[in-house]
Amino acid sequence: MADKIGFIGLGRMGKSMAANLIKKGFVLKVHDLNQTAVDDLAAMGAEPAPVANIARNCSIVVTMLPSSVEVEQLALAADGIFANARPGTILMDMSTIDPLATDKLARLAAAKGLSVVDAPVGRLAEHADRGESLFMVGASDTDFARVKPLLDAMGTTTHHCGPVGTGGRTKLVNNYVAVSLTQVNAEALALSQRFGLDITKTLQVLLGTSATNGQLRMNFANKVLVGDTTPGFTIDLAHKDMSLVVNAAHAAKVPMPVAAAVHESYSLARASQHGSIDFSGMADVVCELAKI
Ligand code: NAD
Repeated sequence: MADKIGFIGLGRMGKSMAANLIKKGFVLKVHDLNQTAVDDLAAMGAEPAPVANIARNCSIVVTMLPSSVEVEQLALAADGIFANARPGTILMDMSTIDPLATDKLARLAAAKGLSVVDAPVGRLAEHADRGESLFMVGASDTDFARVKPLLDAMGTTTHHCGPVGTGGRTKLVNNYVAVSLTQVNAEALALSQRFGLDITKTLQVLLGTSATNGQLRMNFANKVLVGDTTPGFTIDLAHKDMSLVVNAAHAAKVPMPVAAAVHESYSLARASQHGSIDFSGMADVVCELAKI
């Protein structure tokens, strides 16, 4: 029998991902604290439902929430997913959370005959809008086969990284690089401005040498240089991810001084009320600090 799908967390990412599932023919029950987001999905054909109802009736429950706090709360509350799901149900968490929280949820799920898949999302929000995301998945082979049709409907590229927990760990490595490159690019822009360089020309140079990088290619000309800080991926979320990276590095005894410095730079940005802008707006933050 086809899996029935629940989708919890209809924010900047989840709303587009759920919409793409509906467009590809999946029947969804949805939930979010934000009623407008729920109404928008209902207008596309989804059925709004409380979490317990979703857990009782859906054999795959997708979560796309801000952090470990919300995922654990929705999974473990008395009216939450684990207390109400039938054996065989998969919780596919696609949020970027602490991999230790994923490990804990996977253990608790197994004790109830449920399972957890961690499938965090790569690329930008605009890719999620177009159904062009990349997924890094931690799952048993059996669970992976069950969630793969959903991933194919929401993205173009799926990597099965290994057992549950490997998706989130891969995501932390990925976001360490992506979030740090955004900081490096921001500092480079500030220095170019101070030098009085032609920024378009400088960008052309960097794009043609080994200095080039994904954030420069995807996020610079179209966002930073035109002053567009609409989120996207917020500085708050990037800071959350760097907190996860720094904590994981401490626990694993891996020295990552660049990660610590980047983390604190994002802390500065949040302290100066920039938390809700797109992370490419770190360029504005560094220029502001340098009084450029
Ligand atoms: P968001 O803040 O836009 O959306 C989160 C949604 O969760 C909101 O709609 C909120 O109302 C809902 N929510 C929060 N607590 C809830 C609860 N208790 N019950 C029900 N709903 C609740 O965040 P986002 O940008 O969509 O990101 C979601 C996750 O994906 C984060 O972990 C983020 O790090 C990750 N991510 C984001 C991007 C991006 O570009 N935005 C890209 C890849 C991964």
